[in-house]
Amino acid sequence: MKYDVIVVGAGIVGLSSAYYIKKYNPDLNLAVVERASTYGQGNTGKSAAGFRDVFTSDINFKLSNSTVAYYRSIQDSGTDIGMKFCGYLFLLRDKDPREDHFDEIGKKTSVRIIDLEEIRGINYLNPAPDSESAELMSLPTIMSAVLGENCGIIEPDLICKHYFDECVKMGVQFFFNFEVESLSLDPVNKLDFPGEPFLWQDKILRSLKSGKREMQADGFVIATDVWTTSLLDPTGIDSHIRPKKRQVFQVGGENIEKMVFDDRFTGSGICPFTILPKSGIYLRPAPRERAFWVGVADDIQRDFSLVEDPQAENAFYEMNLLQVIRSYYQSFSSAKLQSSWAGYYSYNTIDKVPYVFRSLNMIIATGTSGSGILKGDGIGRSVEAAYSRKGKVKLSNGLEFDTEDLGVRDRRIDPEKIIL
Ligand SMILES: Cc1cc2nc3c(=O)[nH]c(=O)nc-3n(C[C@H](O)[C@H](O)[C@H](O)COP(=O)(O)OP(=O)(O)OC[C@H]3O[C@@H](n4cnc5c(N)ncnc54)[C@H](O)[C@@H]3O)c2cc1C
Repeated sequence: MKYDVIVVGAGIVGLSSAYYIKKYNPDLNLAVVERASTYGQGNTGKSAAGFRDVFTSDINFKLSNSTVAYYRSIQDSGTDIGMKFCGYLFLLRDKDPREDHFDEIGKKTSVRIIDLEEIRGINYLNPAPDSESAELMSLPTIMSAVLGENCGIIEPDLICKHYFDECVKMGVQFFFNFEVESLSLDPVNKLDFPGEPFLWQDKILRSLKSGKREMQADGFVIATDVWTTSLLDPTGIDSHIRPKKRQVFQVGGENIEKMVFDDRFTGSGICPFTILPKSGIYLRPAPRERAFWVGVADDIQRDFSLVEDPQAENAFYEMNLLQVIRSYYQSFSSAKLQSSWAGYYSYNTIDKVPYVFRSLNMIIATGTSGSGILKGDGIGRSVEAAYSRKGKVKLSNGLEFDTEDLGVRDRRIDPEKIIL
């Protein structure tokens, strides 16, 4: 089987990449291969599924703001993708939230400053943890908050379905249960001599193998998230990313339910995705489950290992997250841990902004650093721009940037400071 382009990986990045390459190059013969039995089963399916455009890095803002705009247009056109604009509420230790980068962010998107009086009006929130807990765990007193208004929650399987359906309509072919075993390089000009390719030969990727199946293409998109490293390593091409396990704990109960459906800030029917002032612990409303999804991007002491079926550690919730959360929210003391799961962030450890770069005849898209769904549309457009060798990435809402900005060699990025 020979294609013009094969995309490896049918997560949000592979799907949106396939969609834009086919959309702007309709004559190309395009296939997507995926080792799972359907799309969206990797980290896309494990995520906390929040969206925001509250980022310090300009390029992260552009990717997220344009993606939110695109997703909103899908939802408004009648395809339900579960988007709820419930906001992101950052509870802050500082009296003046502008000290926490929000002044700059407020110039680009809609944020509202919430003062102490409004915070005190939330009867189930205790802004000042008792002194013993505060001292033991270095818990700050909440002094203010910022509400990101162009933010909320989404259903990743439905946004994946949108791209998948559109790809199928355009004639993209999908091959599931196709696990690419390794990427082996061939010489561009083959001599049929043992030991090829030699140092002095130009190299190219021509085909992918999965068991007895083989597929050939002229170009490839590697959209395999944390698994990109093991695919690329044998070729000597650096993925520039490292994996970290990330966990989600679903917590429910009668008092929790009341919090989930308290929509005083946005009128969206649910409370905001809330970020505590300690360690970036977040509470994500999960209205379908009438519960919260609790998570954190823990850093020191969380190793960079990668296993195939990562498990959530309930003791991590009990001994780490719960101790902090219940100091601010008493209701969590009696709440039930209902379920939990784990996946990975593919971290760009330098600037926490995605990579989209070309190497040989491959475009590599990875390093989403925990926010690939909410940037999914922008990343797909960036892959298309890199594939088509366009100088600029043009985003859904008219914003743009240089295609090389997300690359490796001529990367021009301001590092991201708000990672959740
Ligand atoms: C706990 C958690 C919470 C998160 N919360 C959020 C959030 O709130 N908002 C947000 O935007 N993002 C969030 N993320 C991050 C988000 O999930 C990722 O950034 C995004 O899913 C990356 O998409 P992807 O397509 O690159 O990766 P994936 O969805 O992992 O897709 C990669 C695909 O490649 C396939 N694959 C791998 N190797 C091979 C192979 N050899 N052959 C064939 N196929 C292969 C995999 O099966 C997989 O389907 C979270 C992630 C986690 C783990």
